[in-house]
Amino acid sequence: MFIVFLGPPGVGKGTQSRRLVSYLQVPHVSTGDMLRAAKASGSPVYAAAERCMNAGQLVSDDLVLALVSERLAQPDCSKGALFDGFPRTLVQAEALDKLLEERSTPLDLVLELYGDENELKKRMMRRAAIEHRSDDTAETVQQRMRIYRLQTEPLVQYYAQRNLLERIDAMGTPDEVFERIRTAIAKRT
Ligand code: AMP
Repeated sequence: MFIVFLGPPGVGKGTQSRRLVSYLQVPHVSTGDMLRAAKASGSPVYAAAERCMNAGQLVSDDLVLALVSERLAQPDCSKGALFDGFPRTLVQAEALDKLLEERSTPLDLVLELYGDENELKKRMMRRAAIEHRSDDTAETVQQRMRIYRLQTEPLVQYYAQRNLLERIDAMGTPDEVFERIRTAIAKRT
């Protein structure tokens, strides 16, 4: 199965997607993780990406698409993958459709996790304190929320029109949320 995980920062996409990949036995394709790993390469391309990440901005579609297309070409992605934090723009969503169509493995499902914005901001500030993430300051949290609303939220409509969307209430314990995700997947398979 090819699944996209959508949702604002702080909604629990990371936690839930880790559980879901182990449940479905598909690779976890997290562009945030891939970018954080690539930063260590020392290439100037990634230095620019790091500046965007630290400022709560999106990195360029071209860079992200190059990483994803390289990742999808690996054999473990032949039958499925869970995309976490990708796509984040309409350009990326259209490019993903094209990439998957070329391989005759279209997207099966889009899970949108949603939750109260104030609660999500609080969660992110707590996470910043625990994980020391350099992109979780109060200012970048606001910025990332704003960018999500402007650039990523339109994807909800894009996928709803194709009847691929399942909305998941992300407020609750991780177990409760995961149960809702499992139910949504069961409905579609
Ligand atoms: P994440 O771990 O998914 O929250 O991503 C952390 C940061 O990496 C984001 O705030 C962006 O700066 C960058 N990033 C991750 N995925 C993407 C993407 N699909 N498109 C553009 N920027 C991304």
